[in-house]
Amino acid sequence: MIPFNQTKIVCTLGPATESYEMMKRLVLAGMDVIRLNFSHSTHEEHKERLDMLKQLNEELNTNVASLVDTKGPEIRTHKFEGGQALIEFGSKVTIYMQEILGDSSKFSVNYPNLYKDVTVGGTIVVDDGYLSLKVVDIDYDDQIIVTESFNTHTIRDRRGINVPGMTLNLEYLSDKDISDIEWAYTNDVDFIAASFVRRKEDVQAIRKLLDDNGGHRIQIIAKIENQEGVNNLDEITDIADGVMIARGDLGVEVPPAEVPVIQKNIIAMCHRKNKISITATQMLESMQVHPKPTRAEVSDVANAILDGTDAIMLSGESAIGKYPIESVEVMQHIAKRMEKEIDRRALIERASSNVKNDIASNIALSVGHSVFQGQANLVIAPTMSGNTARLLSKFRPNTMVLALVPSAEKARELALNSCINAIVFDLPTDTEVLVQMSLNYVKEKGFVTNKSRVIITGGFPIGTPTNSLRIIDIG
Ligand code: PEP
Repeated sequence: MIPFNQTKIVCTLGPATESYEMMKRLVLAGMDVIRLNFSHSTHEEHKERLDMLKQLNEELNTNVASLVDTKGPEIRTHKFEGGQALIEFGSKVTIYMQEILGDSSKFSVNYPNLYKDVTVGGTIVVDDGYLSLKVVDIDYDDQIIVTESFNTHTIRDRRGINVPGMTLNLEYLSDKDISDIEWAYTNDVDFIAASFVRRKEDVQAIRKLLDDNGGHRIQIIAKIENQEGVNNLDEITDIADGVMIARGDLGVEVPPAEVPVIQKNIIAMCHRKNKISITATQMLESMQVHPKPTRAEVSDVANAILDGTDAIMLSGESAIGKYPIESVEVMQHIAKRMEKEIDRRALIERASSNVKNDIASNIALSVGHSVFQGQANLVIAPTMSGNTARLLSKFRPNTMVLALVPSAEKARELALNSCINAIVFDLPTDTEVLVQMSLNYVKEKGFVTNKSRVIITGGFPIGTPTNSLRIIDIG
């Protein structure tokens, strides 16, 4: 049986997991969403993975969703003589805007306006934070930045550059991102994780591109990975469908001790606004090479779940690691254990602090309370749009919410919402027939026993906004 996860699991695909067999094992182990990282691989390679997923969903009758993670407006170095250069502590390093072959005293970058955006005294960070350079001079005529190295590090070709705390005027959508997003809507993916979102306009630009090209159903997850994104979190979460806490880059752009604080704030804000939150990066980092996680990694995954994240993500662990399947199993094991410990009362209270004054939201709130008070073992939510399920997810009921949806697309759209198990179901217009069919289904599948109490909630007749909550005792 395919596991049902309250906390959703996202797996980045890569060389370790791109065969049909490995992807199948990931699904059987509990993967809910595949992440296609467009910082790597060609369109053709991603297409092969997506095609395999489609085939797997058919074979296993699952609704594992797909997420395209854009490269984003990244600044990178160009190449170095011999592919690398040793930059020594205290040495002067000049950064050019015109492409040159770099060495231990100079290199160039792919963003020609960098010299305009940095200030003397600021820091330029290279290669995931391994090299820090202090800006000591800027020559605006020659368009060069003179820096001094804070440490010793060997830098290789095309390393990433971060400029902590600076507002960059870099165009948000690069040609590559536009072409990758085009690929996403052409191939009917379910989610786009937008890298380096700094302000709401970045999300709006992607939304427009999608809406103008028939990609209305694709949800946008804003990746928060720098201070500007953190500063504009409120407006970003108003516009985006969810947020990924991209702790890798975030920990380079802001002081690392701020990352857990930001993570907690993002999870709480998303929860209040009923937006998806994904906690990402280095969750089980050591499992890239070891079959078991460190105690600290287990605590990290556990705390994200206790704080109420919708989803947890594997990066290198599933893309290039030696133990991808074990990593999913470990995540799931931690999730199952922590789901017993979650302070559901606190989560319901947090969710209730921002509830719309409409019937649908208040019915979802009642369902949340009913399950919390032990009055139901299963929630069935027939839903044409998926909205009833999304509203229910917010109250984190400690039971399965079986969302009965009209199509596989709709089921995949709910793949990142905590507590939801979405399946494709024939949804007749006659409410009593629908109720009876869904009860027969959950009995047949063994989701209930003779002593179970079930809540059926939705908009009846099917297709209308949520207007009903029915409690049914089985047996
Ligand atoms: C991150 O920086 O944590 C992240 C998820 O983004 P990427 O893996 O694309 O660098």
